[in-house]
Amino acid sequence: NLSEKLDKALHVLKGHGQITEINVAETTKEVRRALLDADVNFKIAKEFTNKVREKALGQNVLTTLQPGQLMVKIVKDELTELMGGDAEGINLSGDPSVILMSGLQGSGKTTFSGKLANFLKKKKTKNPLLVACDVYRPAAIDQLHVVGEQIGVEVYSDRENNDPVALAKAGVAHAKANGHNVVIIDTAGRLAVDQQMMDEIASIRDAVQPQETLFVVDSMTGQDAVNTAKAFNDVLNFDGVVLTKLDGDTRGGAAISIKSVVDKPIKFIGTGEKMDAIDVFHPSRMADRILGMGDVVSLVERAQEQFDEEEARKIQKKIAKNRFGFDDFLKQIQQIKKMGSMKDLMGMIPGAGKALKGLDIDDDAFKHIEAIIYSMTPEERATPSKLNASRKKRIAKGSGRTIQEVNQLLKQFEQMSKMMKMMQGGGGKKMMQMMQN
Ligand code: GDP
Ligand code: MG
Repeated sequence: NLSEKLDKALHVLKGHGQITEINVAETTKEVRRALLDADVNFKIAKEFTNKVREKALGQNVLTTLQPGQLMVKIVKDELTELMGGDAEGINLSGDPSVILMSGLQGSGKTTFSGKLANFLKKKKTKNPLLVACDVYRPAAIDQLHVVGEQIGVEVYSDRENNDPVALAKAGVAHAKANGHNVVIIDTAGRLAVDQQMMDEIASIRDAVQPQETLFVVDSMTGQDAVNTAKAFNDVLNFDGVVLTKLDGDTRGGAAISIKSVVDKPIKFIGTGEKMDAIDVFHPSRMADRILGMGDVVSLVERAQEQFDEEEARKIQKKIAKNRFGFDDFLKQIQQIKKMGSMKDLMGMIPGAGKALKGLDIDDDAFKHIEAIIYSMTPEERATPSKLNASRKKRIAKGSGRTIQEVNQLLKQFEQMSKMMKMMQGGGGKKMMQMMQN
């Protein structure tokens, strides 16, 4: 589960059995990346991670026994909070209860109307009626009838009437006369926000006074979904959001953005074209979905599989005793290489990742580095300070690299050893400053 995964993430990130401020920063950075990947608005993602970082440091994540679990809890709680806390139901207090659908064409209103009717019908106490108010496309009325037939719910339509407001009223009257205690009004949408559509949906709303006006939005439209939500909310002040098409690649970041911008609860999600592909929206589940899809988790899992902890501990000891040599360096390179592409993995090496990034090490460069190290004698590998000019010349010749490359490697090695020593010494703050420069 997520908690275990992020725990692993932190375990790798912290590397040395002790979580540091760097790790909190790294982790929040990964969380932010996951949010951006999930289509969350940049500003919202940034605010969010700042909050998480503050909380993590404030709650002394650094000193707890299981920092990973606490960190996960903070991230998840914040994310859940951001999406509305507890799941909110719909208001069915009317007699009949009127539910009005709004949203762009293609967002999934007609499909969702059917799903909701089906969902409520299963509750036994509800006897819904679907009302077809999309008068612009004859096919739209047919579509609702097909849906109604599928789920065994009556559909009210009137092909002679092309006034959506009158139709909606007639639908509610029909429901009252025929013992339907829920009326779901399916409306027309357009491809983009326009005044006529807004005026029409507002008129229907004023005429039938729905208990619930729902805004239906395609979650795959990403940032556009947010702008559309805002436009509809400005006119309708709707009661809740329905997020459709969450069965695709979409990661649900729209949920966070929409909630943040219009501050209305997301009430349902659509997860497929079939009539039973409807779920009540659970903020905490969505938080799992958003976090679970971050690159962090898979990267970290891969790293965890390959990373030999025993080896890491040995190296740690050597660093502490100032005995970190080229053999160890070689081993580290080999471990890193096992994990996959350098580009993906640079950011994962605790602390060193960022520093090395600037040095532009690619997969090929590793081959060269290895060749140089293989040309050293065991003694030279263990005690790099022995490398004088003639030895360097010999190594360059043996590896087929230039003296400059040998020197460059020595310099990198020296930098890395220094950095590792610093991390070891608990110089977290200093490191952070260094890396931010
Ligand atoms: P409307 O124009 O707002 O009434 O949208 P429709 O209900 O006609 O839906 C437009 C298209 O999206 C149709 O092909 C639906 O089958 C599809 N659709 C609606 N909801 C979902 C969903 O949750 N998942 C998937 N995969 N497709 C959906
Ligand atoms: Mg429709």
